Amino acid sequence: MFYNSTRNSSVKVTSAEAITQGISAEGGLFVPEEIPQLSQADIEAVGAMSYADRAAFVFSKYLTDFTDAEIHYCTDNAYSTKNFETESIAEIAHLFEGTYMLELWHGPTCAFKDMALQILPYFLTTSAKKIKLDKKIVILVATSGDTGKAALEGFKDVEGTSILVFYPEDGVSPMQKRQMKTQEGSNVGVCAIKGNFDDCQNGVKAIFTDSDVKASLEANGKMFSSANSINWGRLVPQIVYYISAYAELLRDGEIKAGEKINIVVPTGNFGNILAAYYAKHMGIPVNKLICASNINNVLTDFINTGVYDRNRKFFATVSPSMDILISSNLERLLYLMTGRDDAVIRDWFGKLSSEGKYEVTDDVKAKLSEEFWGGFCDDEETKATIHSIYEKYSYTCDTHTAVAVKVYNDYKAQTGDTTKTVIASTASPYKFSAAVLEAVSGGKSDLDEYAMIDKLAELSNMPVPAALADLKTKPERFSDVIEKADQKDYVLRTLGL
Ligand SMILES: *Cc1c(COP(=O)(O)O)cnc(C)c1O
Repeated sequence: MFYNSTRNSSVKVTSAEAITQGISAEGGLFVPEEIPQLSQADIEAVGAMSYADRAAFVFSKYLTDFTDAEIHYCTDNAYSTKNFETESIAEIAHLFEGTYMLELWHGPTCAFKDMALQILPYFLTTSAKKIKLDKKIVILVATSGDTGKAALEGFKDVEGTSILVFYPEDGVSPMQKRQMKTQEGSNVGVCAIKGNFDDCQNGVKAIFTDSDVKASLEANGKMFSSANSINWGRLVPQIVYYISAYAELLRDGEIKAGEKINIVVPTGNFGNILAAYYAKHMGIPVNKLICASNINNVLTDFINTGVYDRNRKFFATVSPSMDILISSNLERLLYLMTGRDDAVIRDWFGKLSSEGKYEVTDDVKAKLSEEFWGGFCDDEETKATIHSIYEKYSYTCDTHTAVAVKVYNDYKAQTGDTTKTVIASTASPYKFSAAVLEAVSGGKSDLDEYAMIDKLAELSNMPVPAALADLKTKPERFSDVIEKADQKDYVLRTLGL
């Protein structure tokens, strides 16, 4: 299996090269040259495996340059109860008849990003060895909260790597800030920027492409790599849990062989739902992929009209990990839907960066509406949904997952579709305690973050994840706050360049 670039189909690299490079030189994203197929027997076999073995099975189809031993080294280290609080790794909760919550947040940082960021460091170091890259890998991350912490946990003390995370001083939740400031590990660094997320991100991008920095990195035997979802190594682990969920529902007699399901995904960068699309095209029977957005509803409009237009107001919401106007993984979907037409992709994504807008062809519009259904909801609806699920089913969900549930309810009301449905649950409710507690108890609370967690535990009867409970007593290790103009100097100094 080789990988092409969405902006140049003649680029052809192995998975190890795609994973170490992160993004193709001309700015395109790496895409496998074909989608491997699963048989009914494969799906049945998957149901009997452990999660680590399910992952290894799926990876063996995509990472064909990895040996079995290399794949198992990665999966056995990433997907064990050493890192996850449940044996099943991706836990299925039954919400109500025919509707299942795929809980993807039992990892060390309590968000679904762990599903990929627990394994990415193993993929990266294994890939680097395979292509005889004799360099230390430096991961630079700009984060608005979840990715930074998940990347830190994934890369901490991984030999041959170091990681430096920048976050906006006032742009993350108190819990997210504590999570990062108390990070353990000998190869990690965390720094706040006096600015917003865009400032962090622009700074990181500028450093990535700075030729001076690159030269001194090289002279010191180091290179940069990316832990963002543009990296194929972050996307492929996400395909696994959709296949895993289907196989498990089949094994448990919840669905019959060949029976279609819907999959609902609360979406930001389009990585998670793209993984569901891959699972479907590998052979998992799927009816609709339901794309749920918050009030930053650029994707809902796109699915409904075929026009992608980021020229709109940006809103900060109670589901901050979905506050995004440029969904980078859409590029991979459109590459596939245009029959891998790199010229069209260059045109559309060129327009996106120059005008902030592009419109797809009628053919692609038809494909979009055949495969996807898009909807959105605002903060009030999100909180009302948390409240009603809590009242009706004694189930407490986080703000992102609630967006998915609300959009799914709208879908059912509009279409009358009764197909069994899996909803991707992307974060622990404890990670967004303030909004969840307000929704559950019906009013704002003036408790501090830890007292809110205790109160929520009392009301929800759900165990508090150890990783969040421990935060209260952990010492803070990182307190640097810098001006955005000093980001480059900070990186050079920290890396000893
Ligand atoms: C990142 C994130 C999302 C959005 O996922 P994408 O892959 O960017 O679409 C949704 N919910 C939570 C909790 C997240 O951290």
